[in-house]
Amino acid sequence: MNDCFRTDAQVELPAMVHARGCRCALHSRRLFTGGLIAAASLPALAREGVDVGKQSSFTKLVSADQIEQAAAAQYGQMRQEAASKKALAPDNHPQLIRLRAIAQRIIPHTYEWNERARNWKWEVNLIGSKEINAFCMPGGKIAFYYGILQQLQLNDDEVAMIMGHEAAHALREHARERMGKTAATRIGAGVVSALLGLGSTGDSLLNMGGQLLTLKFSREDESEADLIGIELAARAGYDPAAGVTLWQKMAEASKGAPPQFISTHPSGPTRIKDIQDNLPKVQPLYQRAPRPTQRFEPPKKA
Ligand SMILES: [Zn+2]
Repeated sequence: MNDCFRTDAQVELPAMVHARGCRCALHSRRLFTGGLIAAASLPALAREGVDVGKQSSFTKLVSADQIEQAAAAQYGQMRQEAASKKALAPDNHPQLIRLRAIAQRIIPHTYEWNERARNWKWEVNLIGSKEINAFCMPGGKIAFYYGILQQLQLNDDEVAMIMGHEAAHALREHARERMGKTAATRIGAGVVSALLGLGSTGDSLLNMGGQLLTLKFSREDESEADLIGIELAARAGYDPAAGVTLWQKMAEASKGAPPQFISTHPSGPTRIKDIQDNLPKVQPLYQRAPRPTQRFEPPKKA
C-alpha cells in the first residue's frame, strides 16, 4: 500500500446505500426522463435467465432523476470525505483496478434491466475502511470497502456477485421504491416535499441522499437482487456458483458482530438455497459467456 491510501480509516461514511433499482426488467421500464410517469406494464416475454416479476408501482411516486441526482450528491460527498482521510484508493491501486475491470464486464449487461443505466455515469471507488461493506447507489455509483475484499478474501467471481447484487438494487430502483412507500405513508413530513420535488435545492437533494443511506432492503428486494446479480455476473463471464460461497463467507463473518452489509441486507435462511435453485437458469449463460481475460487476487490478509 502506498502512503496516500490507508486501509484502516474510521470514516464516517454513509451507512450502506444499496442502490435501489427498479423492478423493471424487460417488462415495466421507465422510458422517459424527468417526470413521474412510468411506462405501463408490457406483457412478459419469455427470456433466458432469472424471473423476478414486475417492478413495484411505488417507484412511480418519486422521480428517477431526482433520486439519481440525490445519490450523486451524496456519493460525491462521501468520496470527498474519504479523500480527506486518505481513505480513497488512488486510480492505480491494484484492488481498484480489479474492481473497475469487473465492473466494466458487468455494466453492459445492466441495460436490459433498466434502460436508464445506459446513460448513468457509472463510478467505482474503493474506500479504505475495515468494514465489510459495498454498495451501488442509484445511478450506478458503486463503492467497495477494503474490508469486504480483505476479510472475506473474495475471489473475482465473488466480487462480481456482490457487484451484480448491488447493481441490481440500483437497476430495480429499490431505493426509489422504498422512498415512494415513505412518501405514501408519511405525507406531511419535510422529506416529502423534497421527494416530490417541491424544494429541489441542493440541500433537499442531500437530505434525500442521506435518506438513501438509511434505507434497508426488504427480503423481497434482497431476493430480487440475488437473482438478477447472479445473472449479471454469469453473463459477464463469472461463475454464478460463487453466489453460494459468497453468502457462506458472509454468514461466517456475521458470527461475531454482524457487518454493516448484513444489517442493510436482511436475509432469511433460504437465501443460499434460492440462489442454488436458480443456478440452472443462469449456468447456460455462463457457459456461453466470454471469460475475463485477466484474473486478480484478493488483498493479502491483515
Ligand atoms: Zn442487497
